[in-house]
Amino acid sequence: MSVLPDTQDLTDEQSATLEKAALLVISARREAAEMLRRAEIQGFDDDFFGSRCRKCGNCREFVGDDEVCQRSACRHSASQHAT
Ligand SMILES: [Zn+2]
Ligand SMILES: [Zn+2]
Repeated sequence: MSVLPDTQDLTDEQSATLEKAALLVISARREAAEMLRRAEIQGFDDDFFGSRCRKCGNCREFVGDDEVCQRSACRHSASQHAT
């Protein structure tokens, strides 16, 4: 698992880019998972490609397309899920 650089040091623009890049990773993962579903390959759960939240660890998959995860127990940013 990779470690996030200290986001405190990022400019607003850099943070926005980081979140955008993270969403790209997450959407690619969703597409990959969907591909497996379509092929009816069994036994892979949503966690298989791993976008578990590294802040809380309880959230297995980023929810929504917004800046933060829409899961009420999570609410962490996309970049926290792009492990
Ligand atoms: Zn989450
Ligand atoms: Zn979280």
